[in-house]
Amino acid sequence: MAIVCSWLINRVSLKVMVFQPRKKRQRECLIRGFSMQLGNRFCVCMKLDRWSIGMNAPFVFSICCALFLAPWMNANEPAEMIFVNGRVVTVNERSEIAEAFAIRGDRIIAVGAEGDLRKLAGPNTIVRDLQGSMVLPGLIDSHVHAPDAAIYEWDHEIPDMRTVEEVLDYIRGRAAVLEEGKWIIVSQVFVTRLSDPRFPTRYELDRVAPKHPVFFRTGPDAALNSLALKLCGIDKDYKLTDGEPGYLERDPQTQEPNGILRSCSRIVKAEDPRSKPSFEQRSEQLEKLLRDYNSVGITSICDRAASDDGIKLYESILSRNGLTCRVFLSYSVNAQGSMEDIERSIVKAATHPRHAYNNLLWLRGIKIFLDGGMLTGSAYMREPWGVSSIYSITDPQYRGLLYVEASKLYQMARFALKNDLQFTAHSVGDGAILSLIDAYERIAKEDFSVTDKRPCITHCNFMSAEAIERMSRLGIVADLQPAWLVLDGKTLLKQFGEERTNFFQPYRSLFDSRVVIGGGSDHMQKIGSLRSVNPYNPFLGMWATIVRMPRGMEKSFHAEQIISRYEAIRLYTINNAYLTFEEKEKGSIETGKLADFVIVDRDLLECPVEDIADTQVLETYVGGRKVYGLKKD
Ligand SMILES: [Zn+2]
Repeated sequence: MAIVCSWLINRVSLKVMVFQPRKKRQRECLIRGFSMQLGNRFCVCMKLDRWSIGMNAPFVFSICCALFLAPWMNANEPAEMIFVNGRVVTVNERSEIAEAFAIRGDRIIAVGAEGDLRKLAGPNTIVRDLQGSMVLPGLIDSHVHAPDAAIYEWDHEIPDMRTVEEVLDYIRGRAAVLEEGKWIIVSQVFVTRLSDPRFPTRYELDRVAPKHPVFFRTGPDAALNSLALKLCGIDKDYKLTDGEPGYLERDPQTQEPNGILRSCSRIVKAEDPRSKPSFEQRSEQLEKLLRDYNSVGITSICDRAASDDGIKLYESILSRNGLTCRVFLSYSVNAQGSMEDIERSIVKAATHPRHAYNNLLWLRGIKIFLDGGMLTGSAYMREPWGVSSIYSITDPQYRGLLYVEASKLYQMARFALKNDLQFTAHSVGDGAILSLIDAYERIAKEDFSVTDKRPCITHCNFMSAEAIERMSRLGIVADLQPAWLVLDGKTLLKQFGEERTNFFQPYRSLFDSRVVIGGGSDHMQKIGSLRSVNPYNPFLGMWATIVRMPRGMEKSFHAEQIISRYEAIRLYTINNAYLTFEEKEKGSIETGKLADFVIVDRDLLECPVEDIADTQVLETYVGGRKVYGLKKD
């Protein structure tokens, strides 16, 4: 007891020494200091912190001892598990590496030197020798679409397609097994990721599937064969009349549609012949996917377009205690609707029972789409895209597509933030990003401070020094996809050149400017961390930010934007926890936090850099419960 006491006093004294009233960051240090002894009693600490403003440090210390130390000593329960002899990447403020940590229930109860930690053992404590293995905080993916991804291959397995020829082979194969006249639907094969980056033409599609309508769809863009065009009533005289964005590509001589639809795949009404899973089957598939996330170290995800139905799926898994990832939900709102409808959706999210905090399932955000994508040539840029064969852009003035005008964007962002919901918008191009920053800045000027509401930008790919400075000043956070550096860097460099990509995913500049950014995959289809679109292996993402080496290139893509290994780990841990307002609950291995952690097979801080992406997870724990263990063969 005496040893534990002196250990506690040392920890608390240390915190008191750095404490200065009225400085927010240091007050947070103090909160964490006391949480060392209090474990779960976190809210009591918060109150205490408020009292402490203006008091002197020794006085605060005595109050704390009197109020909390005695009950803790009475409880004095030993640790349930102590992990020793490890390289524990704490991701605390000082980026410390510890030897050992102890857990009880769903919390971490101590972190530090092995000798001290062993003293927390009781007769039933399990002591695990990590034999030098590295331990990371549980990894957090800031952007997934798990419910849809989980059932993408429900009907049949879909091969990886890397060339137009492979796309055509797949369609030919489907035509061979499907009854004539049934639709063949291929979704989310991004043409800019093909080695011959272009859409298949109407005539190529006709060649492999003359008797089946074909709908090759990548987000808002699509390619159709002749039968599909006919069934949709799209001919030479067709005009878009719904007032929404988009256009048809046409043969310049004949004006005949060539089958490629830009930003208007919504006009295609295809009957999907693929078999559909029941609710229970979807729930099972989603649980399977969450388990697969665990296998690559992911213990928390943000669903960045949660639907009512998707929320019910997560709830069904939660009700059978099967949720092995913590889920933060950004509720999907259609920004094309009327302001009334948009507000109704936001109120629905704000009054949803899941809006109450629960560390396993929490609806706390709103997500809209602000522009197109960089994979489809429709991201909204400040400067014209430039004529392009890859993206089929013929208009030299074309800048991409912005879906929401400024005053409407301001209104919906303000309404969401005011209703205690984090607002984020899919914003890929530098024009869209600035437009979203403008909306947040207007709220900050005219309505209320936005900093503590952590307004977010999703994707945030093409940036500028100006955008970074304003994000830093306003406290705007961002959810980025590092793997896109690898998958898309080469195509983007070809399209935009060196200068316009200076601020493409500028991790170094963002860290230096203290903009809090998190790493995510935007996983949207298949189960399997490297076979998916987009791949959700976080070690691939970390490696991408450390080397910035695109597929098919020999040198780094803007090497000046490389970040350190520890910073890359931060992207997937504490930074993502901050993005979801949970940095005091998770994201680091510190006393009082949730016992979410991962044991890996190599030293991410010391191993050869080329080995980082191949990191294997040995074990994954969520709330002290082992949810994954690598099977040895
Ligand atoms: Zn997404």
